[in-house]
Amino acid sequence: MQRDFSAVKRLVIKVGTSSLVAPDRSIRLERIDRLAFVISALTQRGLDVVLVSSGAMGFGLNVLGLSQRPPEVPRQQAVSSVGQVAMMSLYAQIFSHYQSTVSQLLLTRDVVEYPTSLDNARNAFASLFALRIIPIVNENDAVSVEEMDHITKFGDNDRLSAVVADIINADLLIMLSDIDGLYDKNPAEHPDARLRQRVSLIDNATIRSAGGAGSAHGTGGMASKIRCAQMVFARNSQMVLMNSREPRDILRVLDGENIGTWFAQEE
Ligand code: ADP
Repeated sequence: MQRDFSAVKRLVIKVGTSSLVAPDRSIRLERIDRLAFVISALTQRGLDVVLVSSGAMGFGLNVLGLSQRPPEVPRQQAVSSVGQVAMMSLYAQIFSHYQSTVSQLLLTRDVVEYPTSLDNARNAFASLFALRIIPIVNENDAVSVEEMDHITKFGDNDRLSAVVADIINADLLIMLSDIDGLYDKNPAEHPDARLRQRVSLIDNATIRSAGGAGSAHGTGGMASKIRCAQMVFARNSQMVLMNSREPRDILRVLDGENIGTWFAQEE
């Protein structure tokens, strides 16, 4: 089956910290600019686009001039809460350059687990789409901390993006990563690993192929991307996992080019 995204009207794009912040803590401005351009162009074509963006901690370290995240959780919360503002202010500036308005939605897991607050979140997305505003979603890291009796964390933003795709009933989830897609084995360990263009079934071998830790400051790893693909399949939807290096490739993907890995079940 060929890729055909011509019917896609609503999509979620997920970008991780390592795509936005370089290892030396500098902000990858060019990439963010291209991402804003692409999302603005899609919105102007009439698509509903949500950006799920990590990066609060990375931006916070940058603003505060810290070389690594503090070990204590309350201080991590503080850094994230500084960084979230810096990140959103940069997004607001760059998107406005492309005539787009963005909004911020900070979610915690309990929001989506209580039917009333889930409905409220869904209504907020619907109103924003009606106004052609681009929602930028992140986990509310300043207050979302793992507690014994009250689970507020999604775990990672890969999962959050799959949850948001479900909330808004997206036709497509595009996951931007530090790698070109899913390989048949971990390319960091196996130089002969081959990129898979299409995954239509997630079996044990697929899950095994994604084993192992991810990058130094991304927390998800490939295994969490596979879990997202399973969530996406459970609602009969589709996902593309691709490199964040050139956000303009998103436009080529939507035109049906074979970039990244396309997760779609057989018809
Ligand atoms: P990001 O931070 O960009 O979201 P992650 O670091 O969480 O990305 O996950 C991507 C990493 O997963 C890759 O850089 C690679 O090291 C690792 N990985 C493990 N197995 C695979 C595989 N089969 N295919 C691709 N990447 C894999």
